[in-house]
Amino acid sequence: MFDYKAPDNSLANRTIVVTGAGAGIGRAAAKNYAALGATVVLLGRTEEKLESIYDEIIDQGSPTPAIYPFDLSRAKEEDYTEMATILEAEFGKLDGLLHNASLLGERTPLSQYEARTWRHVMHVNVNAGFIMTQALLPLLEASEDASIIFTSSSVGTQGKAYWGAYSVSKFATEGMAQIFAAELENISNIRVNTINPGPTRTNMRAKAYPGEDPAINLAPEEIMPVYQYLMGPDSKGVTGQRFDAQALGGPQG
Ligand code: NDP
Repeated sequence: MFDYKAPDNSLANRTIVVTGAGAGIGRAAAKNYAALGATVVLLGRTEEKLESIYDEIIDQGSPTPAIYPFDLSRAKEEDYTEMATILEAEFGKLDGLLHNASLLGERTPLSQYEARTWRHVMHVNVNAGFIMTQALLPLLEASEDASIIFTSSSVGTQGKAYWGAYSVSKFATEGMAQIFAAELENISNIRVNTINPGPTRTNMRAKAYPGEDPAINLAPEEIMPVYQYLMGPDSKGVTGQRFDAQALGGPQG
């Protein structure tokens, strides 16, 4: 497990967007960032889930979050421009962006993979992250210390049979993060990295491995150290890297 403990209030006065904040890893990250003092923008497609995490964040005594219902499958480019305008009016800047929402798609051989599903998965997992990052860059540039995290997977560096568009989308995510990191290094205060969460007890994992006992995997709350590290000031200057949430190591390697 990545070995890091965030100092109390290390995300105070920071505004952080978390996509897919209603469930699984995104939900844990949103709660975690709020507990460290951040104002979290809870972005997701199911409003009731966002409302319930909103309530949990208020109950834990953290800064009041914002709910941003948004369907990455349906959103048009102008919806991302509108998002940037609304966030700018409300917060003036953005200090963090966790791209967490993803679709699994089908677990089937490429020879039988449906083109429609392929397009859907690539759109949500890759195109949406690109368009959102581009739209929110001016707001991230307005921060003194901004962090963008993309979510990868072990199949984002090693192709595996039957992982189809999901695996290809994660390879693309790794590439996109490296390019953003290289282009923003030296000209901005924005760092860009990827996290591979590793096997984690969520709905997506259960869908990918229906026969597996969920208890053998870590809960989302248990893989948070690397999410804290990369979002907070201790990772300033760290960019263009890939982190495994469940690998041994820490900020010093
Ligand atoms: P879940 O399926 O549990 O959660 C995914 C979240 O993304 C949900 O909140 C979901 O919303 C949201 N989402 C999906 N589609 C859209 C959309 N079109 N618009 C807006 N939000 C959407 O997944 P995990 O928590 O397991 O996964 C989180 C990330 O971690 C993903 O990027 C995944 O690829 C990655 N990952 C996970 C692993 C694991 O073992 N769990 C392993 C490796 C990588 P809703 O709840 O409303 O459906």
